[in-house]
Amino acid sequence: MRIGYGWDSHEFKSGVPLRIGGVEIDHPKGLGGHSDGDVLLHAITDALLGAIAAPDIGTLFSPSDARWKGADSALFLEEALHRVNSAGYAIANVDSTLILAQPKIGSHAAAIRERLAGLLNIPANCIGIKAKTPEGMGTDNAAIAHATVLLEKTKATPSRRSTSKTSRSQSKSRH
Ligand code: MG
Repeated sequence: MRIGYGWDSHEFKSGVPLRIGGVEIDHPKGLGGHSDGDVLLHAITDALLGAIAAPDIGTLFSPSDARWKGADSALFLEEALHRVNSAGYAIANVDSTLILAQPKIGSHAAAIRERLAGLLNIPANCIGIKAKTPEGMGTDNAAIAHATVLLEKTKATPSRRSTSKTSRSQSKSRH
């Protein structure tokens, strides 16, 4: 098994739609950023990448790269999931916490879980969405997301101590 953790924050900004967890939420302000600013998808993407020790979201999808200007963050999540699957792992579950003063997430949580279930190809009951207000933190103009993921091995990877003839002779010559 592998565990992964991701964190992200974005500042609220006028004139852009608010997207959280791949769901557009009706609100006077959205989240600024080079991409669509989806703070929750970014945190989950980094948790997936971290679990397999892959480069982080900022390295794979540089904010200085024009390709990702205004990008749908679902693309980042899909790439992270592809890497997880290629490494021989499947997602067991995802848990997350959003910290933001507004809007209230409770009424959107079910839609976010459904959307994430579709993107991650796991049941919605394997996805935790919790939301808190930033009491005493002075971050009322930001949205913050924390995410953890648990991965399970789906297939055997080649053993480091292969017993095939070729490997044995290579191993001998190395030592
Ligand atoms: Mg981000």
